[in-house]
Amino acid sequence: MTPFVDGATVAEDIHEKADVVVVGSGAGGAVVARELAARGKDVILLEEGGFFTGRDFTANPREMIDLLYRNRGLTGALGRPPIPIPLGRCVGGTTTINSGTCYRAPDYVLDEWAERHGVAGAREPDLRQYFERVEAELGVRPVPDETYGRNSRLFERGAAALGYDGARIPRNERGCLGTGVCAIGCPQDAKQAVHVSYVPRAQAAGARLYTRCRVDRILLSGGQAIGVIGRFADASERETGRELRALARHVVVACGALLTPPLLERSAVPDPSGRRGQNLHIHPATRVGALFDDEVRGWEEVPQAYNVHHFTREGIFIQGQFVLPALEAPVLPGVGAAHKARMARYARLGSFGALISDETAGRVRAGRGRWPRVTYQLGPADARKLARAIGLTAEIFFAAGAREVYSGIHSQPVLQNGDEARALQQAILPAADFEMMAFHPQGTAHMGEDPRAAVTDSAGRVHGTPRLWVADASLFPSSCKVNPQITIMALATRLAEHLAAEL
Ligand SMILES: Cc1cc2nc3c(=O)[nH]c(=O)nc-3n(C[C@H](O)[C@H](O)[C@H](O)COP(=O)(O)OP(=O)(O)OC[C@H]3O[C@@H](n4cnc5c(N)ncnc54)[C@H](O)[C@@H]3O)c2cc1C
Ligand code: SF4
Repeated sequence: MTPFVDGATVAEDIHEKADVVVVGSGAGGAVVARELAARGKDVILLEEGGFFTGRDFTANPREMIDLLYRNRGLTGALGRPPIPIPLGRCVGGTTTINSGTCYRAPDYVLDEWAERHGVAGAREPDLRQYFERVEAELGVRPVPDETYGRNSRLFERGAAALGYDGARIPRNERGCLGTGVCAIGCPQDAKQAVHVSYVPRAQAAGARLYTRCRVDRILLSGGQAIGVIGRFADASERETGRELRALARHVVVACGALLTPPLLERSAVPDPSGRRGQNLHIHPATRVGALFDDEVRGWEEVPQAYNVHHFTREGIFIQGQFVLPALEAPVLPGVGAAHKARMARYARLGSFGALISDETAGRVRAGRGRWPRVTYQLGPADARKLARAIGLTAEIFFAAGAREVYSGIHSQPVLQNGDEARALQQAILPAADFEMMAFHPQGTAHMGEDPRAAVTDSAGRVHGTPRLWVADASLFPSSCKVNPQITIMALATRLAEHLAAEL
């Protein structure tokens, strides 16, 4: 591992200077740091979490969630119901704990960003070169036969029987063994999350990385960004009392869609559009389980390997989501002996996620403590869409031969046949009836050319505050309709090109 400064070991305050300071080392920040460093720019990359790689990853869910997840996995949005939104807090950010699925935002989404939200220069022909660059860096390819197992194959068979289009998922991996623990750190370092790809390459090109350094404030002078102040913490997240003051010609904030707006707010960065923190989309999701007669052994394959894209335009995507027993147990229906009996049949379970592209918009504001106030109330149209998504997922499982399906809906947790699954596709249910999670927060500092309507311009410059940029999922003007990491990285690559030109 290339040397870096672990904040836990810093014994005195540090003063730094650079061309660019990048806050956050996830999908957006790591890419900006690498692209600028590769162009010979002097870059400092700051990350609140620690730096861990495969040899630290034990595949023990509790240990790894404590190590890699923000607030030990307990982050989310308030509403009825509250929705968990897990985030990575480590070098690599949420890419370190994600499933490795790599999709470009569809061209019709990019067209909508141009036509409805006034984004310039980000249609498909403009972004193609950046998508290609990112995919080449990450070794993106469809899941090969060796790691494509029965959970995916059964579902593919069910979808084909119903005439629904789907395909194997393109993933960023080199040497994946299908061990099934992507969401708690890949022990093989096969998944090309940015902590094993862009971050080391940024370091090799000269970027200086500080870990366990939480940026508290962006420094402004004469209305321009001039640097940041960060505080170092030890391995138990207690502040050590040492701080980093980094002055730079440009500041790039890439803390993710839930943490970038609060940092701007706490730093008293002006918000001429009044839109900062609004427009939070999350892709609400429900895991749908299915019991088969024979063993599925879903842990022996890539957990997210097949995707039904037949319904993407209407805002529904259905993709593999097999999880470890410790994470499956809380969502399987029943209590006591009934629950125990279902868990005992874990080897016969299939599991897919039903996700929707949401029109609902939540909000993020700075809170009193470190965690912001995140609010999100799923609207009735999205609740109908989610019921339809779950119903479709269940229908596919039944077509694949499932005996019963676990819907993740409190009022009808177990579905017995395809007719019940089809009825669910038309159901009108209250939001509180769904067992939801969300993995893709986005949209809270969205781009657009009009400073009265958007938080940043189309390249990521914060309107009204020269030398300040945003480079994460906050930039999306609306839901990107697919898993977001590749689009975040493509936009970050483009941002770095614009920023380099200004230096
Ligand atoms: C379980 C799970 C599975 C997922 N699977 C996929 C998938 O397969 N494909 C896909 O496309 N997407 C997936 N995602 C989502 C994807 O990983 C995220 O959308 C993406 O990583 C977001 O990038 P980002 O740059 O916006 O933020 P992040 O990647 O979250 O990075 C933000 C970083 O900033 C740091 N930070 C925050 N505040 C501060 C501060 N004040 N000072 C210093 N550092 C700070 C954080 O610790 C973090 O490291 C998944 C998400 C989860 C939770
Ligand atoms: S399935 Fe592949 S990418 Fe995921 S943790 Fe295992 S080896 Fe890594």
